[in-house]
Amino acid sequence: MQQTSYIEISKSAYRHNIQYLKKIIGSNVKLSAVVKGNAYGHGVENIVPLAEKAGVNHFSVFSAAEALEVFKVKSDKSKIMIMGYLSDEQIAWAIENGIEFYVFDLYRLTKAIELAKSIGKPAKIHIEVETGFNRTGIEFEELPQVTSVMHENLNLIEFVGLCTHYAGAETIANHLRVMNQIEIYNSFYEYFLLKDLVPKYRHTAASAATLTYPQTRMDMVRVGIAQYGFWPTQETLIHQIKENNAKESDLRRVISWKTHIMSIKNVEPGEFVGYGISYMANRKTKVAILPIGYSNGYSRSLSNSGRVLIHGKQAPVVGSVTMNTLSVNVTDIPNVNQGDEVVLIGKQKRECITVASFSDMSNQLNYQVLARLPGNIPRNVVS
Ligand SMILES: *Cc1c(COP(=O)(O)O)cnc(C)c1O
Repeated sequence: MQQTSYIEISKSAYRHNIQYLKKIIGSNVKLSAVVKGNAYGHGVENIVPLAEKAGVNHFSVFSAAEALEVFKVKSDKSKIMIMGYLSDEQIAWAIENGIEFYVFDLYRLTKAIELAKSIGKPAKIHIEVETGFNRTGIEFEELPQVTSVMHENLNLIEFVGLCTHYAGAETIANHLRVMNQIEIYNSFYEYFLLKDLVPKYRHTAASAATLTYPQTRMDMVRVGIAQYGFWPTQETLIHQIKENNAKESDLRRVISWKTHIMSIKNVEPGEFVGYGISYMANRKTKVAILPIGYSNGYSRSLSNSGRVLIHGKQAPVVGSVTMNTLSVNVTDIPNVNQGDEVVLIGKQKRECITVASFSDMSNQLNYQVLARLPGNIPRNVVS
């Protein structure tokens, strides 16, 4: 079925980003590509093969359902790590298929051991510790019990990782909190060493920490947003530019989102465009109607404020974004016709609509805009 818009994924931009990230972390640190949320809207089936070609062989997801999507398209030598929710049956599935998963409480630890025993295969676990994010993670007081359970079942577990997550490494405002977390993490690590339990990988850093706090890279980093060419925040970008004496971002955006003009309308001065009275034409106005609305991932909060590109020029959204359509003002762009290409996110000639500017306008983060791009929009990999 033909959809009203389509997404292009740039192979060369993705390859560039992985090479750049690998250069930063060095060859002793493993890169796990975080592909939760349908690879941040880019499509798991597109990103996993590209990542493997770029030398990535470890993928992180939130749930078993996401792990299954990766499992279907990955090569044999790639590993999957589930960082979040698992039902008991899903823990069994993970163990059977050699899928790694987080253990953040005693319940999951004992369940994993019990299932590993009945399946006859060790559970590949990453112990997540509580260092100050206060979401999931084992508390320091639980360590004696956790480590003794691990010791009693060494043949049923593989201690793959010791991990934690920072509460906002993307802004300097959290500097002290992050530094505290690093210190707490290290004391957890020392406790495990004292008990002769040595994880294969120590990993704590997502994109922001990877890019701004070298000491957090340890043995592995879990990079999400940066591999897709976006900075976690403006602050992270500025830090990187200062560090490298760069003129602009060293990352390239991988995604473009496009549609075509559905219809053209000429509106007389004093008339309103769309529902209600939110936009009145103050002169003879030429409006292009696009087959994209909030049900297609184009936020309603971009009403009267979003911008798209047509013929390499910016066209502002006029009136409200409806469920399936929106209107843009093309009065000042010559020769605009039905069927012309429209860029919702990405480049056209010299102009660019970034997800960041998109999100500044609608007050959302990069992450949200990307994750909300519907799965049914066709995604094509281009060079
Ligand atoms: C989402 C997530 C990441 C990746 O975060 P980015 O900021 O996109 O790099 C890393 N670790 C955990 C636990 C996550 O949930």
